[in-house]
Amino acid sequence: MPDLTLTKVAKSFGVNVVLHDLDLRVRDGELFTLLGPSGCGKSTTLWSIAGLHSPDRGTITFGDRVVFDGGRIDVAPERRNCGVVFQSYAVWPHLSVHDNVAYPLKLRKEKRSARAARVREVLELVELDRLEHRYPHELSGGQQQRVALARALAHPPDLLLLDEPFSNLDAKLRERAREWLRALQQRIGVTTVFVTHDQHEALSMSDRIMVMDQGRVRQIGTPEEIYQEPADVFVADFVGTVNVLAGRAVPGADGTARVWLDGLGLPLVVPTGAGLDGGAGIDGYVRLTVRPERIVVHPPSGAPADAVNVVTVKVRSRAFLGDHYRYVADLGERELVVRTLSPVDHGSELTVELPPDAIRIFGPA
Ligand code: ADP
Ligand code: MG
Repeated sequence: MPDLTLTKVAKSFGVNVVLHDLDLRVRDGELFTLLGPSGCGKSTTLWSIAGLHSPDRGTITFGDRVVFDGGRIDVAPERRNCGVVFQSYAVWPHLSVHDNVAYPLKLRKEKRSARAARVREVLELVELDRLEHRYPHELSGGQQQRVALARALAHPPDLLLLDEPFSNLDAKLRERAREWLRALQQRIGVTTVFVTHDQHEALSMSDRIMVMDQGRVRQIGTPEEIYQEPADVFVADFVGTVNVLAGRAVPGADGTARVWLDGLGLPLVVPTGAGLDGGAGIDGYVRLTVRPERIVVHPPSGAPADAVNVVTVKVRSRAFLGDHYRYVADLGERELVVRTLSPVDHGSELTVELPPDAIRIFGPA
């Protein structure tokens, strides 16, 4: 199906403005994820696409086909041809796997023989073909989820809409389900809008991610762009872990600034990018972000002579997480989260380097 486009879609519930003139475009065949904290408007967006909510304003088009336009056009959900899967699987408990999947085809009055063939086909697709006579209570959560997915795919949808479909699965199963769904989506090439509040899920599955906050778009980009080039501190902080350090910047002439953090005797050297335009309009106050895994831990003997932004920090707490250690250390009057493979004792000092290219600079809060 051609692109899905939302233009200036707005929605309020009473006085609560849930979507503020939302614009987005999902490309044909793409897996596009709506990511954001609980309550930011992800489900409302998805439901508006499916036709289960009517926005107050705006336009929604599937290719050339306008399915919503202000009060003038509002195509009924069953005529939008979207396959929808919710967090609660919503499979019918009194119907077998086969009958659950056949149901939408029956509604569309498809012939019995064609129906049987299609049910077999989609059950094979979701790897449930040997369980077609079972009832939902005889299935695991993951299997029920796949029944819901098979039902959504039974009549080939133009758009697949998935609202937190894995949140009821345990961690291990969820990881497998992601890989499996991503492979399936690529194989059948169906344009998919996926809703989650889980950054790992979003990063691992998506072609592109839209980060939302309070009904507004913060950033749209590939997983790498979102993680490595966050548009603002909210995105940096919501996607992955980040140290946010406030300080006062003094712009230099060489494309860098010196940023003085409270209680730290030396300034950090930071390349000035977006957000600090020679200090103009920022009044010197800035926020720096640096990812814990980008911080370099040096041996007690010290850092190489050419290293910049080398500071000694005192370890306040540590956690062993199997594949790495996570330290919280004091950096001046602030704390710094460091992620490294090397074990260091609680209370000891760490010589760390904050490489300039690992630091991003933003305006004040
Ligand atoms: P998300 O899916 O990102 O968690 P939702 O889109 O479900 O967020 O909800 C966004 C906001 O809209 C929340 O503040 C929620 O309480 C409110 N909301 C959602 N649905 C309704 C409804 N049917 N009536 C009133 N308020 C609603
Ligand atoms: Mg939701």
